[in-house]
Amino acid sequence: MTVVKKILAIHTGGTISMSQNEKGEVVPNAQNPIAQQETIMEGRVQLHTDELFNLPSPHMTPVEMLKIKERIMAAEADGIDGVVVTHGTDTLEETAYFLDLTLPSTIPVVVTGAMRSSNQVGSDGLHNFQTAIEVAADDASRDNGVMVVMNDEIHTARYVTKTHTTNVATFRTPTFGPIGLVANGHPIYFQQLIQKTTCDIDHVIDHVYLIKAYAGMDTALFDCLDNDQTAGLVIEGLGAGNVPPVTLPAIQRLLDRHIPLVLVSRCYNGVAEDIYGYEGGGIGLRKMGMMLCQGLNGQKARIKLLVGLSAGMKGEQLEKFLSTAVS
Ligand code: ASP
Repeated sequence: MTVVKKILAIHTGGTISMSQNEKGEVVPNAQNPIAQQETIMEGRVQLHTDELFNLPSPHMTPVEMLKIKERIMAAEADGIDGVVVTHGTDTLEETAYFLDLTLPSTIPVVVTGAMRSSNQVGSDGLHNFQTAIEVAADDASRDNGVMVVMNDEIHTARYVTKTHTTNVATFRTPTFGPIGLVANGHPIYFQQLIQKTTCDIDHVIDHVYLIKAYAGMDTALFDCLDNDQTAGLVIEGLGAGNVPPVTLPAIQRLLDRHIPLVLVSRCYNGVAEDIYGYEGGGIGLRKMGMMLCQGLNGQKARIKLLVGLSAGMKGEQLEKFLSTAVS
């Protein structure tokens, strides 16, 4: 006898819940069309629905991310077998990674969205929603960390990123590739997620920033953050993790204030490393006290720094948390 799994769909907004109006603008609906799909996969899963938010994802903040995490934990305590979160794609990777870092769950948690709204030709929302449910309802999906399912591919929340403004094949995992795909209604996994550490938090702090380095950069942006409010900063460095030398005095001033500074690469692929010994190179930045965060892009490293600081980490504990590439 097949066991019918109880799946909770948490809707948060985004294109998957929007439609195009007569002027051609993609806009939110009073009634979320994806949340009306209550009979989807009837007989195969028991679908429970929670319309938690109806936000375009640029409106999403860590406060909402924490509410999603708390809703998932409550559902798990109530005996839900798996969770699907629908979300706008612009900040989807940040929410997915926040959940990955903070949820101690073993049940499958899958985040999905759409690139075309509900009434556009070739809309991908319903298909992505269905495949996300299929993944969440499958036993092979347990203990995989939070996953992102879009366009028939399964990605880890940790490494996936949005790579195209409009194409339905936008979500990619540059360095490692997807961990699986969905075919004929079932997930097929061909990679396993390496070790996962979670960090349970009950609040989120503010004033954690992200800056991208560029040729000819000066100190202006760093100077803006040189104040008592700044809690942390991630710098997307050049190449393997280097910055223009002109910025070094301003970076030193932030470090002197004991503001945790994290270095990642602005490159799409690869990891930040302390390779270069010239002025502004990664070796000197590390000696100054910057923490290297390997394998994460800037927006994910910012989420990790924010979570670590919200958990009260500092000093060596924070550095260990940030520099561990496998969580
Ligand atoms: N701008 C939209 C959002 O992130 C895009 C999407 O949902 O795909 O809400």
